[in-house]
Amino acid sequence: MSIQVLEVWKSFQAGLSVLQGVTCSVARGEAVVLEGPTGSGKSTLLRLVIGAERADSGTILVGETEIIGRATPQLAAIRRSMGLMVQGMPLLPALTVAENVALALRAIKASSRDMRFRVYESLKAFGLEGRREAYPSQLSGGEAQCVCLARALVTRPPLVLADEPTALLDRVTAEGVIAVLRDAHVRGATMLVATHDSNVAPRLGARRVVLRGGRADDGTMAGGRG
Ligand code: ADP
Ligand code: MG
Repeated sequence: MSIQVLEVWKSFQAGLSVLQGVTCSVARGEAVVLEGPTGSGKSTLLRLVIGAERADSGTILVGETEIIGRATPQLAAIRRSMGLMVQGMPLLPALTVAENVALALRAIKASSRDMRFRVYESLKAFGLEGRREAYPSQLSGGEAQCVCLARALVTRPPLVLADEPTALLDRVTAEGVIAVLRDAHVRGATMLVATHDSNVAPRLGARRVVLRGGRADDGTMAGGRG
């Protein structure tokens, strides 16, 4: 499933646009890293793509579906095909780590026999299989971040969106997380990863799009934009 962002504008405050006509795309099966300094609008762009925010103008397409930032049956269907590790989707505090991850599988109606094994495998990829019975409040920030990513990937979604997946991690753990993302991409997932970390794109083998000054630059506009 592809993503197309066309001339998207977004402001939270009159006269101050975070996104100023952003155009970028992720082809089906492609991995793109959205890079840019803190505050450049990366998380905002991801939230627009998943319909959690509404653009002021411009067009966003996920597959054939236009995302208009409003809850619709089409949006719900599209979200089910996305693995999301984004701001505003915390782990549920009353459920254990395993239960949080299993919930994603329940949403796609996986069989309960499948469920235990897949939850275990997805946590194991992050070295967190021993934390299955822990509650979110008992996890470090980095561990919680990895569980969110395990939850996003456990359903093997065709489209993966991740926001700062390596933010709270030491280098070795970050390398492991990038390897898990790379595996998902190699298996065929289309991927959009937002990060301020310039190590992610080369290690993921992803195309880099840089967000700066409200615009996206994928390096194909050499000589500047006239
Ligand atoms: P990044 O993820 O690149 O660090 P963000 O998209 O989180 O950047 O934020 C870009 C800018 O938009 C920041 O100045 C931030 O304060 C502002 N912003 C983001 N979300 C909101 C919001 N819900 N209300 C007001 N301002 C916001
Ligand atoms: Mg951000």
